Amino acid sequence: MSDHTLTTLDLSALPLEPGDPLIFEQEVRLPPMRLAGQDYGFVPDMVTAVLKVIDVGRGYTVNMSFSCRLEGACWRCLEPADLDLDVTVEDFFEAELPPIEELGEEDEPTLWYQEDGMLNLSDWARDAVAELLPPKILCQPACRGLCPQCGGNRNLTECGCEPPADFRWEKLKDWKPEAD
Ligand SMILES: [Zn+2]
Ligand SMILES: [Zn+2]
Repeated sequence: MSDHTLTTLDLSALPLEPGDPLIFEQEVRLPPMRLAGQDYGFVPDMVTAVLKVIDVGRGYTVNMSFSCRLEGACWRCLEPADLDLDVTVEDFFEAELPPIEELGEEDEPTLWYQEDGMLNLSDWARDAVAELLPPKILCQPACRGLCPQCGGNRNLTECGCEPPADFRWEKLKDWKPEAD
């Protein structure tokens, strides 16, 4: 039974000396993601991230790196697919935050990872993964997908279905160039 609590970090409680990087390991829960109508989960969903935090006066520069594995359905054949990723993100987080109701579209998106002085490492990590994803998640690069006629997995069997007739070409079949 995994713990579904998101991982947060109180930046103000860290033993920071201004300008001195503090490097430490932190267990971070990676929440599941929904992509192209399918659910994807991290296996395992707790990873050990290396955090580097620097107090730069009016806020903190935070660097986080971790490795993870995302599992879910192949976008072409729906069989299990997985993706190993090495993730590194770095952002600046304010020490003093405006009240959440005063935040607008134009504000730094990193503000949204902070609430009540806590940095939401889980949401930040998941969004960092989303930035790194390839255009499609596939079981293998050359996945042949499902047959559009019979739904068979074309990686496993050659179903032999004819490709559907293209009606634009059907019309052209009877077309003959005008004789001079
Ligand atoms: Zn596939
Ligand atoms: Zn078929």
